[in-house]
Amino acid sequence: MGILKNTLMTLLTSCVLLSLPIQAQQMEEGTEEDKDNWKIMHAGTLLAIPGEQPIGNATLVIKNDRIDQLLEGFQSLEQLGLDQAEVIDLRDKFVLPGLIDAHVHLTMDRSLDREQDDSSDKPDESLDVYALALGVENARKTVEAGFTTVRNLGSSGWSIFALRDGVNSGKIVGPRIFASGHTIRIGSESEGGECYSVDSCKQAVRRQIDMGADVIKIYATCSGGQLCSRIGSPSPFLADELQAVVDTAKTRELIVAAHAHNVRGINMALNAGVDSIEHGTLNDSSSRQLFKKYGTYLVPTLMVLDRIRRINPEREDSMMKTHTQTHIDHHEQNINDAFQAGIKIAAGSDAGVVPHGENARELEFYTIVGMTPMEAIVTATINSADLLGQSHNIGSLQVGKYADIIATDVSPLEDITALKEISFVMASGKKIK
Ligand SMILES: [Zn+2]
Repeated sequence: MGILKNTLMTLLTSCVLLSLPIQAQQMEEGTEEDKDNWKIMHAGTLLAIPGEQPIGNATLVIKNDRIDQLLEGFQSLEQLGLDQAEVIDLRDKFVLPGLIDAHVHLTMDRSLDREQDDSSDKPDESLDVYALALGVENARKTVEAGFTTVRNLGSSGWSIFALRDGVNSGKIVGPRIFASGHTIRIGSESEGGECYSVDSCKQAVRRQIDMGADVIKIYATCSGGQLCSRIGSPSPFLADELQAVVDTAKTRELIVAAHAHNVRGINMALNAGVDSIEHGTLNDSSSRQLFKKYGTYLVPTLMVLDRIRRINPEREDSMMKTHTQTHIDHHEQNINDAFQAGIKIAAGSDAGVVPHGENARELEFYTIVGMTPMEAIVTATINSADLLGQSHNIGSLQVGKYADIIATDVSPLEDITALKEISFVMASGKKIK
């Protein structure tokens, strides 16, 4: 006992001795406080909180990755009592929070042709590596387009987690990523997200949790390119399977996003307690009642509709043509009806199915179906942050939140397309563009 005690004491003493030179070194270099990175930004017009009026001539003080102060007027270093800080001059710009896209696939690019590449959802490791390479490129395009946070819904597996962690470590330029792994869908058992019973669906979700998922994505209806998602068709899930997926995700408080086109799939997912419906193409008044009852978000992905409009109908048989036409005829109106009914909308483009880096077009479509530019900006800031459970970190420019800041030459409140020409991007306090 005595020997053990002595050994412990020796260890403790050596630890104390070892720590002394480090402390001394820190004293020489200055305190932790001095190592902080400070920036001050002069904003000509500042929309700090979308939904509220912008203000003219403001100063943002940024300490490391977060906003430290927000002041009226253009404050100088001397006025702020700072010895050293980079001064960023955006006095002729419109400054707003970094945008958030709640539905992307960074590790996919199917924007050219619907049938071109259907392989990247399969859990093949070599494809997963290729998917990461695609993701690195797409992550840069996305953040440079002013989208400083994304929710990635469905990938080939590990690639998206590597990409997320690479961005978090500062080694890869990209947006902050909240990622699901494989999409949970009905299918034969595999190493991916397929499941076929309550137990295997629980297992499929737990596999994603083990891989590091922040979000669970489920296919509550077939894909829009399949006839089985047509009007009136059932969900491929049985109600108890869908419930098992949601309940398992909730054991880790993960948000659940449900891809759903038709009413039966949408309503079944809403009743199971998902956090968002993706696409929501054919939502009707019964769906809207459930959206309101549960407070669920709708993520419209109208850019996909725009793409479907441009697909050559000659390639499709008559039933498929009718199905596609139903989506084209009703999606926009149903999104507008949902918005007018007070359903919460979070912006999501489905980039990966549509081109990466053009995410702001989604907001343009919202103004076409009836939102004001301010309402459209709210869907990609305040609302998307709320859907992600990240309102304390992102979605507005307030003291303590991440310094995710973008700027345009023209006010997007006057012309929403100004968001397609982002002239300045800062993500987590780092200048990207
Ligand atoms: Zn998608």
